[in-house]
Amino acid sequence: MRNNSDRQAWARERMLEKDIKPRGIKDEKVLEAMLKVPRHLFVAETQRMSAYEDHPLPIGEGQTISQPFIVALMTEALKLTGRETVLEIGTGSGYQTAILAELSARVYSIERIPSLTGRARKVLDSLGYKNVLVKLSDGTLGWEEYAPYDRILVTAGAPSVPEPLVDQLAPGGILVIPVGSNSLQELVRVTKSEDGSIREERMGSCVFVKLVGKHGWEVNC
Ligand code: SAH
Repeated sequence: MRNNSDRQAWARERMLEKDIKPRGIKDEKVLEAMLKVPRHLFVAETQRMSAYEDHPLPIGEGQTISQPFIVALMTEALKLTGRETVLEIGTGSGYQTAILAELSARVYSIERIPSLTGRARKVLDSLGYKNVLVKLSDGTLGWEEYAPYDRILVTAGAPSVPEPLVDQLAPGGILVIPVGSNSLQELVRVTKSEDGSIREERMGSCVFVKLVGKHGWEVNC
């Protein structure tokens, strides 16, 4: 008879073999992080049975934890080496934050909803992540204090790329963000070269909750 933690580890392995690897995710470090981070602890107890299925799940306040494949895709797109300082916008459950914390030097994460900020901090603390700082704020303004960032990941859909985030990206840095309408977005990778010029690549469609803020959607639209 398997115990609970064996069962969850088995479910993570199955998620990788079934939903992540066959869809083209190759970065070994990303795969290792997804095998390690206990996604079920980032969702409500009533959702735990579904924690390793490949779809988003509600986390309260009308928000969702992103689908595992999208987490893998966005993380791989950041090309992390382990030495980077990362800014994440949209902490939500904190699951993507934990994946980033496994793969970089330091993660600064911003969430605009107080209850989610509190809950994410608690789970991340309980799992022993010491290289993560979470703050309650409008992430479309970035986090001036620790800028520039080697990588920036936005996990909510924006009408356009927020200017402050491009400004706070280090030369040689990468920003990944879903951009589009409020019902469908395209994943965009913005690369800043050493001389400060900007290149944009489109990486396919996705659906995210809205990025709400000064350089995002208005609260009630
Ligand atoms: N990465 C999260 C996904 C959460 S969904 C996870 O793995 O669980 C996107 C999150 O972005 C929501 O929690 C939402 O409240 C947050 N968000 C939306 N606009 C924001 C803003 N301007 N600043 C910070 N967080 C924002």
